[in-house]
Amino acid sequence: MAFRYGERELKRDCKGPDVEELQVRLAGFRGTVPDSDFGPGTERQVMSFQQDFMRIAPTGVADRATLRAIDAFARSLPIDFKALKCRCGKCKGFGRGRFKGAYVPGKPKVEAFHLYEYPGVHRMLLWAVRAAFFYLPQHRFVISSGYRCAEDNKQHGRSSTNHHGKAIDLDVPLGRGESKRDDMLKCDAIRGVLVERAHAQVGWDAANRKALEPSHIAPTWVHYDVRCYEPKYLQDRMFCRTLRQLDDRRPIRF
Ligand SMILES: [Zn+2]
Ligand SMILES: [Zn+2]
Repeated sequence: MAFRYGERELKRDCKGPDVEELQVRLAGFRGTVPDSDFGPGTERQVMSFQQDFMRIAPTGVADRATLRAIDAFARSLPIDFKALKCRCGKCKGFGRGRFKGAYVPGKPKVEAFHLYEYPGVHRMLLWAVRAAFFYLPQHRFVISSGYRCAEDNKQHGRSSTNHHGKAIDLDVPLGRGESKRDDMLKCDAIRGVLVERAHAQVGWDAANRKALEPSHIAPTWVHYDVRCYEPKYLQDRMFCRTLRQLDDRRPIRF
């Protein structure tokens, strides 16, 4: 029988939807694929979370205390869904579910050119953003761009479809007396932390890794995306439109 998240302790060799949920929630702590199989990658995620957030000697076992700490982590770092919504004025904030399986004409049929307006923002991405907020408390991040549907792209003459639910842009407002160069250095430093802590990549070479736009494309902001994930990790059910759906809070009952 399949366990729901919160119904059992999770450790090596556990399998099931509750493992996938754990992998999603810890997406910004090292990070692995949400494949529902608790292997060495998931163990590393749990250990990073225990060491960095809980500040305990890591065991790699997601016991009761660890699941409680994950709840506390979520509560302490809410995501502003108003800031995530599309600003086209036509959709309700997260596109209209159009263009599934359609690609930019003349381009390869790969995710980077997929025109689908995903039904929300990917949960793993938002949990990873949460971890970024945790690791970089010195910055007052602002979500400068979340969902941008096809209509919004048309209004702004853009062609990239990454922001159809798979990407988010973070901005750090300049402090007093700071220059654009300071801003660029700051964004580079943030990317460095995300590579180290969340196992993100700069660029899109590797499959199934969170990606950051390189600094020549995003000099003064941080673009974070999940477009390198295989389709099985980009299923509709993995996208959310509200904080409640993102958190999907479940009682811990073991
Ligand atoms: Zn829109
Ligand atoms: Zn972006």
